[in-house]
Amino acid sequence: MKCFHCDNCGMMVFFKNDLCIKCGHPLGFLPDVLDLSELETASENQWRASSSLAQKRVYRNCANGQQYKICNWMIPENDSNPLCAACRLNEVIPNLAENKNLERWEKLELAKRRCLYTFLKLGLPVENARGGKQPSLRFRFLEDEENSPVKTGHQDGVITVNIAEADDDEREHRRLTLHEPYRTVVGHLRHESGHFYWDRLIANSPNQKRFRELFGDETADYDAALQNYYKQGPSADWQGRTVTAYASSHPWEDWAETWAHYLHIMDTLETAASFGVSVNPDNAANDASQKISPIMFNEQMDFDKMLEGWIPLTCALNSINHGMGLSDLYPFVIPPAVVEKLRFIHQVIKSVRSN
Ligand SMILES: [Zn+2]
Ligand SMILES: [Zn+2]
Ligand SMILES: [Zn+2]
Repeated sequence: MKCFHCDNCGMMVFFKNDLCIKCGHPLGFLPDVLDLSELETASENQWRASSSLAQKRVYRNCANGQQYKICNWMIPENDSNPLCAACRLNEVIPNLAENKNLERWEKLELAKRRCLYTFLKLGLPVENARGGKQPSLRFRFLEDEENSPVKTGHQDGVITVNIAEADDDEREHRRLTLHEPYRTVVGHLRHESGHFYWDRLIANSPNQKRFRELFGDETADYDAALQNYYKQGPSADWQGRTVTAYASSHPWEDWAETWAHYLHIMDTLETAASFGVSVNPDNAANDASQKISPIMFNEQMDFDKMLEGWIPLTCALNSINHGMGLSDLYPFVIPPAVVEKLRFIHQVIKSVRSN
């Protein structure tokens, strides 16, 4: 994600801020122009956005921001929905009568908005299409109940998240139990969005043929494949074929894991480019440092160039983490087979944008 600055004082501010840390002016995120803007009072409950991208347009706060302080997205004046473009996608929110659920929900919403930022930036559809035949992206944040544990997953446009994943101790416990190198709320949401976008962009489309060449035949029995994975573990050669062990369980999971990975790369590269990060791991003393090229998501964006910037950046980020005594920020290796899968995802997204 790009880095934002206060329109009033120029201070660096962050995606989740609703006040400038330095000058105290109110801030709101404008999903229509993907910018965090300083806000001037326009009239009661209405704000005029200072961002040059918004051209002095007027917005309202999201009801979840006003009532619960968990959302800083703004609603354009001519949109009558009380909820912002992100919050209106919720079908079920956590039971706020429970202690701690407001805090869990806030974490889940922040991760969700971060994902939506990238979808909107990439030009990916989140609304329904074909007269409602293709449902919009929706979310259910559910809690385990006695004898009915909640499985994080996707079905028919709905992403269900077990809200226990918002608790760091619980998520880390699950990560260790499942021998995963990486487990985050953003990662879950990106993975599940992969299933949503498979239905949208691959199923019954001209992309399906190439999908099967790269990922395999998705008509293979899904339940049997997952049962087999949890019983036998990943196939012995997964590291040469898939980006994670779990991805080797079934072509759909391979797609969702690779899709999530593509989104990780996009978000992190945009952040690095936005901060002007340069990396030159082969010869750090050489002046000709390799600047992470300012990307984002345009039709000319070259996949190989993007990956060329990505690999040295991950080496640098891992080493920086080691300097702080932390484990790898990026605990992945991308084999050539996965490069081709990522390239395919890149092309699919580019073709959505140009349509
Ligand atoms: Zn400021
Ligand atoms: Zn909202
Ligand atoms: Zn999945």
